[in-house]
Amino acid sequence: MSSAAVYPPPTAPPANMFNSVPGYEGTVAGGGGYLPPPMPLEPVAPPQPGPVPDNWSIPSLTEDVARGAFKSFASSHCCYSSSPAEDGVITSMEPYNTFRYRLETFTESRSTEWAHKPYEGEPADFYTQTAPRPWEVQATAPSLFTNHKQEIRVPFTSSIKDCHTCHGTGTMPCDECHGDGYKSCWVCNGSGTQNSGACSRCDGTGRDRCTRCDAQGTKKCTTCEGKRQLLTFIQLKVEWTNHVEDHVVEQNSGLKVDELQSVSGKELFKNNQYLLYPLLGFPNPAIAEASDRLIKDHQSRYSQTSRILQQRQTVELIPITKVNYKWKGDPHVYFVYGNEHQVSADYPATCCCVIQ
Ligand SMILES: [Zn+2]
Ligand SMILES: [Zn+2]
Ligand SMILES: [Zn+2]
Repeated sequence: MSSAAVYPPPTAPPANMFNSVPGYEGTVAGGGGYLPPPMPLEPVAPPQPGPVPDNWSIPSLTEDVARGAFKSFASSHCCYSSSPAEDGVITSMEPYNTFRYRLETFTESRSTEWAHKPYEGEPADFYTQTAPRPWEVQATAPSLFTNHKQEIRVPFTSSIKDCHTCHGTGTMPCDECHGDGYKSCWVCNGSGTQNSGACSRCDGTGRDRCTRCDAQGTKKCTTCEGKRQLLTFIQLKVEWTNHVEDHVVEQNSGLKVDELQSVSGKELFKNNQYLLYPLLGFPNPAIAEASDRLIKDHQSRYSQTSRILQQRQTVELIPITKVNYKWKGDPHVYFVYGNEHQVSADYPATCCCVIQ
């Protein structure tokens, strides 16, 4: 299957073959477009009760933990002086914890193309039965929310033909010697003489055996791998994709939202089902709005060309602490955020070569 190649246009199956396989009328050599799934969207699930706040607070950071995170941040940058992290005096710490909403939409899409492979005795089953339509072909789905691809030879679409590259001979002329089996001797340049005697390399013949083809002048055809015949068939490409989109609620701390991509928070809510219903009951209105907007957007966008298999939504509370400190009399700021205690700072001594 993996050796199946895209069918080159000049030797693609005749036009009437395209139309003879019901459900594959649009299939062309070189890959057709994505096939819309035949199943319409089912109505969304009835409203669910909003999540019940359990323990939504995050214990605030201690000064020791903040200072420790800042020190390892400074030491991870080879050119940063350790002085601000070691000698800085914390004056205040403010929490700016914020919510992150994440929507995942797991889809399956299918496309078809004419393909071929070297013929190795497979049954030529073209039209012995009606071929299953693209969305009727059995495919093995991976576990939910993981990306995966599968290529499947569609049953009852296979036929055998002579290889178009070698015209059924199984061989092609050797590139190295252009089919001669011999090349001009490189020592005497084909003259057969060397230092006014016979060339010792080629015994005066002026010719040198081609080692690439063992003097045969031919090599195995790469299209049919020497089998002389090809199996042509419709190949179905099945692709499972997890589409992930986040919305982080504004938090006005001065920390850029992009910084939060690499950290995790405390998980407050998580659910998955075939088609999600928005978290309209969520106490933070920005999360309820993001949930509503993203779910509508994903459901309309991904049902056009693929089949939605499952959706999952997660709400996390991400800890953010703004730490104000003084170093050499001047006020400075750094942020400690995420379960990972990541640090972001406009560091006041970024080059240890400059002694301030
Ligand atoms: Zn050769
Ligand atoms: Zn020679
Ligand atoms: Zn061939």
